[in-house]
Amino acid sequence: MKMAHFEELLDRYADVVVKIGVNIQEGQDLMITAPISAADFVRRVTKKAYLAGAKNVYFRWGDDDLTLTRYTYAPDESFKEFPQWEADGMTKLAEQGAAFMSFLVPSLDLLKDVDPERIAVQQKVAAKALETYRQYTMSDRVSWTVISVPSEKWAKKVFPNLAPEQAVEKLWEQIFILTRVNQDDPVAAWQKHQEALAEKVAYMNRKAYKKLHYKAPGTDLTIELPEGHAWVGGGGKNEKGIDFMANIPTEEIFTLPVKTGVNGTVSATKPLNYNGNLIENFSFTFKDGKIIDFKAEAGYETLKKLIEIDEGARYLGEVALVPHDSPVSQSGLLFYNALYDENASCHLAIGQAYPCFKDGASLTSEDLEKRGMNKSLVHVDFMVGSDQLDVDGITENGDVEPLLRGGLWVI
Ligand code: ZN
Ligand code: ZN
Repeated sequence: MKMAHFEELLDRYADVVVKIGVNIQEGQDLMITAPISAADFVRRVTKKAYLAGAKNVYFRWGDDDLTLTRYTYAPDESFKEFPQWEADGMTKLAEQGAAFMSFLVPSLDLLKDVDPERIAVQQKVAAKALETYRQYTMSDRVSWTVISVPSEKWAKKVFPNLAPEQAVEKLWEQIFILTRVNQDDPVAAWQKHQEALAEKVAYMNRKAYKKLHYKAPGTDLTIELPEGHAWVGGGGKNEKGIDFMANIPTEEIFTLPVKTGVNGTVSATKPLNYNGNLIENFSFTFKDGKIIDFKAEAGYETLKKLIEIDEGARYLGEVALVPHDSPVSQSGLLFYNALYDENASCHLAIGQAYPCFKDGASLTSEDLEKRGMNKSLVHVDFMVGSDQLDVDGITENGDVEPLLRGGLWVI
């Protein structure tokens, strides 16, 4: 890449995350959560946000080294706490209608030598403290977006044979392609993409399947969908009716399962990077929604701790369909980053569900539970898509209709 061109692409990417991602409005506050390694790009985004009318841009910085230092040297008591002022601040901002942008930059193997118990305790405490804030984002009451920028470590994991500098450049190149930033008019390209996803959403909502059936090597799984469920994808609207894009990139359409309606076995098709630990070659067996057995060739303890966080972590909260020819999948790369890998692959998530119902806004949390929505402190996506995955839709009458064959849409 020539430098001038690179600068221009960075600028366009910043435009896309501000205008399509959070779609910042005049007078709105923006909270950015990012690692210090992303500071250059955060500065660019901040400028774009003010130019687009933001009132205040705030920051929550993270740093891998400091995280590891804490996990290595802080006392056990440290992990039983989460700063209340931070949780209150996030909730307050959400109440005031701020927008939220989070940078997902994987910290690969960062915590591999840390006692998994410490990580699990902290994870749970943090999730509890941030529960109210998370409800604002997961039910789309506020505008939020998750994006990624390369770090040297991440880039080296994706491109292990390249020198660090080349790896970072190559990863930026991929990000520009997959976020449509390399196209002449990225904003228009996103609108077109949004329409294509909307077509699939409309089809699935018209069909209102009772169940989905997944078949692939190591997978034979039936997932019941709740009455009145809605497929969504390609962007949401906040409670003020403003469009935003929760993930950049995004290639999925998704809904929620009936908590107790999942049966059979499913094998993951990509490794899962969870809290700085890699879980590989794993599978789950479900009975009436509950994980009754699981296997993992690597990261077994991490996976065990994850599903033991609370009751809901033993049930599913998301069903997402992504064709195997999605741009992310066509890149042929394994990103070790859920934001990218989940857009290459059909996926499911353990834990908290999004309230994807046609009448979702009017439902109380009791109604949601009655309809089968899972609740948990965690929401962790794992990939099940491949070129060998077949998915069928099963109608109310028991008719079986093919949806994906060899990982590709056949509708
Ligand atoms: Zn998803
Ligand atoms: Zn998810």
